[in-house]
Amino acid sequence: MTAALFPLFADLRDRPVLVVGGGAVAERKLEALLQAGALPVVGAPELGERLHRWLRQGRLRWLQGEFDPDWLSEVWLVIAATDDHAVNRAVADAAFARRIFANVVDTAELCSFHVPAIVQRGPLQIAISSAGGAPMLARHIRRQLETLLDESIGTLAELLTRQREAIRARFPDLGLRRRFFEKLLAGPLPRLLRQRVDDARADAWLHAALDDETATEPVGSVVLVGAGPGDPGLVTLNALRALNEADVILHDRLVSDEVLRLARRDATRIEVGKSARGHSVRQDRIHALMLEHARAGRRVVRLKGGDPFVFGRGGEELEFLRAHGIPFEVVPGITAAVACAAYAGIPLTHRDHAQSLRLVTAHCKDSLDTLDWDSLVRDRQTLAVYMGVAGLDQLRSRLLMAGAAPELPFALVENGSRAQQRVILGTLDQLPETAREHQVQSPALLILGAVAALAEPLHWFGTRPLRASANPVSVPQQPAASEHAGNTPATRLPQAA
Ligand code: SAH
Repeated sequence: MTAALFPLFADLRDRPVLVVGGGAVAERKLEALLQAGALPVVGAPELGERLHRWLRQGRLRWLQGEFDPDWLSEVWLVIAATDDHAVNRAVADAAFARRIFANVVDTAELCSFHVPAIVQRGPLQIAISSAGGAPMLARHIRRQLETLLDESIGTLAELLTRQREAIRARFPDLGLRRRFFEKLLAGPLPRLLRQRVDDARADAWLHAALDDETATEPVGSVVLVGAGPGDPGLVTLNALRALNEADVILHDRLVSDEVLRLARRDATRIEVGKSARGHSVRQDRIHALMLEHARAGRRVVRLKGGDPFVFGRGGEELEFLRAHGIPFEVVPGITAAVACAAYAGIPLTHRDHAQSLRLVTAHCKDSLDTLDWDSLVRDRQTLAVYMGVAGLDQLRSRLLMAGAAPELPFALVENGSRAQQRVILGTLDQLPETAREHQVQSPALLILGAVAALAEPLHWFGTRPLRASANPVSVPQQPAASEHAGNTPATRLPQAA
């Protein structure tokens, strides 16, 4: 194995650095050198237009002509950026003879230093190098890091730089200082900075933290995270970040394995799935777990399917945390209605068919009784029903009683966005029978409205939509259906797609 490169970050402020070449590549290198406060010298017979401008502005010096080894006499480093291999080699050789570090663009074997790919957040810089062997891989990793590291990390680095002396003075002991930082970084400060508070407030906050008697005792927090419908590609970058930082993950059964695999490997995963029965007991247990782990100083992620504030009891959990003084954050997720519609090719709104959307849950008898059925049955409205598949008979009869057209198209999306996704299409009058025929299982989302019929022509994901077989089971007519016809439009069926 060849020896590894020795990484170093050079202070080039006010130091002359030579770039040989006057084209676009040289221009990029000169720009980076200017950003580092170096005194760039460019050596080339001709300069591009931009370099001429920098020259006029006094930002660089120009050595005009063919490369001359004497150009190296005053510089600390040299970068060869010409498209002439012989010139580049001459630069590398001359630099070697004078013990000056040289970089030859795109020619790893001629380099005595490499320029890494950089992720920068304020004063914090992460350099990635493959020693010139696999620059594409380095760039790929840089892109991944770019998505993982929030801009506020830079603000944090600036704050800590500003307050460095104050922190050292308060905790001269290295061990205590470490504990202070651990608590600081796990606590609300990063969240505060993500909310873009100004420098003065951040400084004041840090000073208060330094004065706090318990500054080195651990404190935990909870992030309520929406995991989306199952496809890990639908997890947000903020959710990914939270999963990367988590010590403990309390997740619902609805959260897919693929999403769980994105979490930090050594995070403790606890399934707190809920069943229809015994709701309140379960919820108490979830509250108790959140409290227990947060109080022990851990970063808890409470991971929920879809979005935590859409039929997810997220509100109740935050009220509980607030009452117990546990700091929290919320990361929204893509809710089932939005995801299932997209993956089934059903636009939830469409200028020709629907201008409004209702999200309802028909989970249990209580929710069926409290819904305002008349308002759910409207022309040009799409209904997205989150529910157990068991309540479909009840749902149909209530909708028909409220005046819905028996021919109203529906789409049942089972396992939306996942590899096993199935879409079952039909009309309201055959809804429960069709679902039973295809043995639709939870999780499934029901979409009712003219737009549901678009699932056929706009199909793009997974298997083709299914329908009832040729001989549908006959449905008893709903006697109440006509009673409501008077106060609602005569036909309930918006134009077919
Ligand atoms: N907070 C979640 C909803 C929780 S209620 C969200 O925003 O999506 C649970 C119901 O959501 C399920 O009964 C089902 O109707 C629906 N659901 C969640 N994920 C689903 C999926 N991948 N496919 C179909 N329906 C889903």
